[in-house]
Amino acid sequence: MTSRSTSRSGEGRPNLVLVTVDCMRRDRLSAYGYERQTTPFLDRLLERSLHCTSAHSPSCWTCPSVISLLSGLYPHHHGGGLVPGDPKNLSKQNLPTALPADVPLLPDLLAPHGYRSAAIGAVWNAHLSVPGRFERMSMIERPADRLVARAVRWIRDQDGPFFLWLHLGDAHEPLDVPRSLWNVFGPVPRTRGVRRWEFTKSGSAVGSKEFHRYREARIRLYDAAVRSADTSIGRLWSALADLRMQDRTVFAVTADHGEEFWEHREDERASFMDPRDIFGTGHGHGLFQVHVLVPLVLTGPRVPAGAVAANVSLVDVVPTALQALGLEAPSGDGWSLLESNHDWAGRAVLSEGIAYGHDKVTVIRGDAKLLSSPGDGYERTFGLGPDRRESGVLEDPKVTAELRRHLPGESRVGIQVEATREIEDHLRDLGYID
Ligand SMILES: [Zn+2]
Repeated sequence: MTSRSTSRSGEGRPNLVLVTVDCMRRDRLSAYGYERQTTPFLDRLLERSLHCTSAHSPSCWTCPSVISLLSGLYPHHHGGGLVPGDPKNLSKQNLPTALPADVPLLPDLLAPHGYRSAAIGAVWNAHLSVPGRFERMSMIERPADRLVARAVRWIRDQDGPFFLWLHLGDAHEPLDVPRSLWNVFGPVPRTRGVRRWEFTKSGSAVGSKEFHRYREARIRLYDAAVRSADTSIGRLWSALADLRMQDRTVFAVTADHGEEFWEHREDERASFMDPRDIFGTGHGHGLFQVHVLVPLVLTGPRVPAGAVAANVSLVDVVPTALQALGLEAPSGDGWSLLESNHDWAGRAVLSEGIAYGHDKVTVIRGDAKLLSSPGDGYERTFGLGPDRRESGVLEDPKVTAELRRHLPGESRVGIQVEATREIEDHLRDLGYID
């Protein structure tokens, strides 16, 4: 036997692999009951995983949400990825804030225990507010298989415990679907518009025959993008088996937020101001359940399999992952999903930090949801149905008063990122600025 000269203090601890699929809304996964087989790999993984049926993203767009995921703090507590001004309008004059340096992220929490860290992302703004926060950060704006290939090469080089964050962009505008999967759910025309968004403006002919044709093709291609991500996540999982690491890796799959396909267009047009005159599509503008419900699947040596029906949030990932690795978590906004002694039934989860329009916040507790946008003069309490979507307006002042108690106070705000040509080009390509 030879002993390794490069042994690190954390050797023997499990690894952590966190996969986020940008814009992957929960109800589009076959693993969560969708009729198209978008996620055959996750369908299988579910059998050995803890999976949450009411998981929420802390924001409806990438920058604040991924910071919450990596810090265990809500946006008003971490202050990163926030768009200044009122109404908000993400643009080159209004870039989001960088994460304040004193807010630790998972790589900072894991490094003292010997963990190396890498972030490999396909959506440029996933790294925008957290530059230099991982030992290695790579941006590969390509379909998932390319990122997974890079990730596997990095994993092979590790001789001790590691934390890999893989952020896939297949389902984010412009949809990036490999040729082999483009028509997997039926024919999709190869037009520029189908990879981006059309019928978005208040005056668009939504309801026309052309709209319905477009909508069907757009959703088919989105579903194919989810399938592409799922296939590649399956390859990563297989690679961990080949490297004999599968049984000593905590492996989590989620999304940074959902995506809207015109479900709330009329409510948005009637109630909310949008400086872009865009209603009903994409993300960043609203906090309905289509924007914030995400899948959350976790497996690992100390993680029991089974469904979790409680309201949970991506801020729970930090304490859960650390506990699964056998480490203490600092206090934050999240609760470990491995702990049953929390008051899960009384738990309130928040979502906030929008990019367009007046500031909005939502509080979800039990089967009730408060959606508040003071700048629009809007406050409504919804009931949530078994599918966790808004099922109707609740007229119960007691419920509304209880939800209001959980509204966040004053927000911390980091320093605004300064515009460069590179930042503008990337945000334009992603459809965030004109
Ligand atoms: Zn995103």
